[in-house]
Amino acid sequence: MKKIICALLFLSTLAPLSAIVDEKMYIDTNELDMSKGRFKIHVGHNHWIETKSIMHDQSGLYTLESNILKWDESGYVKEWKCPYCYNWWPVKTPCQNKDCPSTYP
Ligand SMILES: [Zn+2]
Repeated sequence: MKKIICALLFLSTLAPLSAIVDEKMYIDTNELDMSKGRFKIHVGHNHWIETKSIMHDQSGLYTLESNILKWDESGYVKEWKCPYCYNWWPVKTPCQNKDCPSTYP
């Protein structure tokens, strides 16, 4: 029983630590899109991830890993930007805008 309590205490002291080591991800301003009032970051091949907040320090703009929208523990929510109507759609979903000429992706 004593061992279990020790383990629980150990875990509870670890929890605040994980908040402190939250990863900073620096963002190139060319890879940032705030046009729809949301923070989208380009990760290549017209795939974008969204974050809840952007901050800056001496090194530039960054977001925190924990602020990036995720489907689940395994991955980020990725969207693509329609080059015609500039709307965002989940990756592998074609543009849903009826007035858009896009056949992308
Ligand atoms: Zn479109």
